[in-house]
Amino acid sequence: AIAVLGSTNMDLVAYVPKAPRLGETVTGTAFRAVPGGKGANQAVAAARCGGEVVMIGAVGADGFGVRLRSALAEAGVETAALRTVEGASGTAHITVDGEGANSIIVIPGANGLVTGLEAGDDSRIGAADYLLLQLELPLEAVLAGARAARAHGVRTVLTPAPVQPLPPELLDLTDLLVPNEHEAAALTGLTDPHAAARALLQDVPEVVVTLGAAGVLYAARDRRPLTVPAPRVRAVDTTAAGDTFVGALTVALGEGRPVPEALRWASAAAALSVQRSGAQDSMPTRAETEAFALA
Ligand code: ADP
Repeated sequence: AIAVLGSTNMDLVAYVPKAPRLGETVTGTAFRAVPGGKGANQAVAAARCGGEVVMIGAVGADGFGVRLRSALAEAGVETAALRTVEGASGTAHITVDGEGANSIIVIPGANGLVTGLEAGDDSRIGAADYLLLQLELPLEAVLAGARAARAHGVRTVLTPAPVQPLPPELLDLTDLLVPNEHEAAALTGLTDPHAAARALLQDVPEVVVTLGAAGVLYAARDRRPLTVPAPRVRAVDTTAAGDTFVGALTVALGEGRPVPEALRWASAAAALSVQRSGAQDSMPTRAETEAFALA
């Protein structure tokens, strides 16, 4: 089973031909409100790929909270450990311009109130094979989850986003780090992903650097680095591609697939997701992933 300790956000997306400058008002073309948040995205990705997934986190006592919870439940994610707390749910205010470039304001809301584990969380984490962590919850909560995982021998997978300096204790508690190339560069000061991965191996035993359309780079202390090219597809929306990759990768590893096969399988899932618009809506099912990975 897979436990996710992470964020849930309602993504409020405004589509505009050209983003407004400071003080300017522009007329947009469309608006969409869709469930997101890196934690929830990874949970949905893993569940759709066939994983048994438990989500730990919080939504607010508002209409968004109800929708965020039901989106997870519809995907098959267990939500008993997703608390409803007073105040607003997390929101991401996203502007997408005519070229597809975006700018984003995240207001943590309920996510910011998750500062540690609640009753029952320790045993939920302990019952899992993997704990998925990102950095959209307060660091104290991420650390508390990682400590619980280590105490129970549960493997931790950390997506270091939004990127920030990682405390040494968190790195010590991380089994697999999955930055994209920008995050890998920010963490190490090295723009070459191979060099960055090597540097990161001083702190964690295994690293996967995602390289967008160029695929992924896997590095571990005890073996030669491995690159897996991405399937060539026509990308229409890469939102949550990284989250889809992490969710699918964890499912594949949890099934005991060898690393190269797990990387190819997760690359197939992520490549399927970028061909459809949306975040959670764009994530493939297990059958779709299986068929595309074999093709
Ligand atoms: P993030 O979404 O976190 O920025 P990336 O852009 O590196 O991360 O994308 C994550 C993964 O999604 C990639 O490693 C790749 O497997 C897949 N992916 C992203 N963009 C494409 C694309 N244009 N074609 C095929 N696969 C893609």
